[in-house]
Amino acid sequence: MTNLSQSDSEIYSVIEREKKRQKEQLVMIASENYASSSVLETTGSILTNKYSEGYPGKRYYAGCENVDISENLAIERAKSLFNAESANVQAHSGSQANMAAFFAMCNPGDTIMGMSLDHGGHLTHGSKVNFSGKLYNFIPFGVDRETEALDFSNLQEIADKNKPRLIIAGFTAYPLSVDFEKFKSIADSVDALLLADMAHISGLIAGGAHPSPVPYADIVTSTTHKTLRGPRGALALMKKNFEKKYNSAVFPNMQGGPMQNSIAAKAVAFKEAMTKEFQDYSFQIVKNSKFLSKKLSENGLRIVAGGTDTHMLLVDTKALGLTGSNAESALLASGIVVNKNSIPFDNEPPMVTSGIRIGTAALTSRNMREKDMETISEFILESLKNHNNPKLLESIREKVVNFSAKFIVPGLD
Ligand SMILES: *Cc1c(COP(=O)(O)O)cnc(C)c1O
Repeated sequence: MTNLSQSDSEIYSVIEREKKRQKEQLVMIASENYASSSVLETTGSILTNKYSEGYPGKRYYAGCENVDISENLAIERAKSLFNAESANVQAHSGSQANMAAFFAMCNPGDTIMGMSLDHGGHLTHGSKVNFSGKLYNFIPFGVDRETEALDFSNLQEIADKNKPRLIIAGFTAYPLSVDFEKFKSIADSVDALLLADMAHISGLIAGGAHPSPVPYADIVTSTTHKTLRGPRGALALMKKNFEKKYNSAVFPNMQGGPMQNSIAAKAVAFKEAMTKEFQDYSFQIVKNSKFLSKKLSENGLRIVAGGTDTHMLLVDTKALGLTGSNAESALLASGIVVNKNSIPFDNEPPMVTSGIRIGTAALTSRNMREKDMETISEFILESLKNHNNPKLLESIREKVVNFSAKFIVPGLD
């Protein structure tokens, strides 16, 4: 970054410090990952300069002959990666991909069922402070109090009673495998449409480590930057009959010019996700989280829902006498970055919580495996048990820095 270092030392130094942070800390935020150098190069390319409102072959600007090729590649690769009939790659973020899905499927005021935020749903699934909760009549569902897993008989009852226009199957903090076929049969039984929001698990689905919603859902939305390991952004897959409606719900309804640098970087990420390496990666993510979950539960922590089938685990930190917020701070002092997270039926407010959410996707991108998860479980347990001892946390942080230094950092090495 020789140009930036000379023209803007302040931003240059932010980037340098952030590089150091991403190398030294153990990134265990479940929604984060390390994009490849090819994805970063494409994101930082001159494609950012181009205006291209519209869709390939039907643009409102001249000079789109090159970005038409990259956007078509992104669309075709998305379709083939996920075996989908149609794809849209223009949404700037997962939230916007969902907004477009609601516009394509519902009218304002319609009834939509989604997982409540405090049981693992996303803000866009009906939170009162989000457009979704303001524009639509959201009816929440949750997990079973005993098993902490989705309760399909309760879901069916709520659907029978409320006759929703749309049901959302998608989660931001749910560790177990999702039975999308079951969601589809409930949706069909009340004549509702089905939206699968696979933002968190799309990389696992692409690699074959989680069942796909594509055969069942009318529209599937996803971020591209979580387990899918692409640039920050989103995509949507849909049945052919929703293609026109979804496309116009994105442009001209919701966005203007698409980010062609991001779209091309999505194409690059989709190609990467088609490889055998990515398949292995997706299975290794799940092996790592299962192993970590086992180690933590053997040593005094309670794992919500009894374990994980994905890249993420929800940990009840009250088992060691800590709030989620205290646990998050102790781990950060040791160089381990996680986020506090409400657990089902949490008695603590959202800024405090009784748990943390831990993800293994980013560290698996650094080639960490089960034996490394064992080391990390020891760092985590020691930090939580000594959360009131800053000196000890600092000594763990030094060990974490030395441990991290042994692994590659995609995009930086
Ligand atoms: C992350 C996430 C989103 C939103 O993605 P942004 O790009 O942050 O807007 C939507 N739905 C689910 C389930 C998510 O986990």
